Amino acid sequence: MAYELAPLPYDYAALEPFIDTETMKIHHGKHHQAYVNNLNAALANYPELAAKSVDDLVRDLAQVPEEIKGAVRNNGGGHANHTAFWKLMGPVSAPGIGGHPSGAIASQISADFGDFDAFKKTFNETTAKQFGSGWGWLVFTGGKLKVISTPNQESPLTQGLYPILFNDVWEHAYYLKYQNRRPDYLVAWWNVINWAEVNRRFAIAKG
Ligand code: MN
Repeated sequence: MAYELAPLPYDYAALEPFIDTETMKIHHGKHHQAYVNNLNAALANYPELAAKSVDDLVRDLAQVPEEIKGAVRNNGGGHANHTAFWKLMGPVSAPGIGGHPSGAIASQISADFGDFDAFKKTFNETTAKQFGSGWGWLVFTGGKLKVISTPNQESPLTQGLYPILFNDVWEHAYYLKYQNRRPDYLVAWWNVINWAEVNRRFAIAKG
């Protein structure tokens, strides 16, 4: 069973003005589609691997044969990361999008970072400093929230961590609107966070 690109769960224009329509069309329809296509090509002769969920595939990267491990790290990671990323955001006009966190994640952020602004600063600084292409991630480890970053499409799943909140800082995610101003994109992005989805992921991360 080949992997497939799911439709974006909202309109391409839904994240305006923070993330522009053209960026969303290219990011979802071209970049994410390419990860899916390349992953399917890499796994063409490995039906037992292609039968896994993409998250399990990336989680079990150590079990992937050497000859396709790089392709799976890049394209399996790309498919897994983007599939989760679209759901982590929502239409700016919808309730519960942007603004301050609610629920269990709000309390945990206060406990581990002091307050929401301090957390955003840590997340944005760590993510802004990721050299070249990559992602910034909020994970839960050792009973605490922690911010990390990874290069390229490497997922925390491969490290045994379940990502809760994360942002894509490949230039394809922001260059049309923000050009070289990655920090401006990072600041704007908080306006499109779907906090219900963050809380859903936090509950899974806590186990
Ligand atoms: Mn991307």
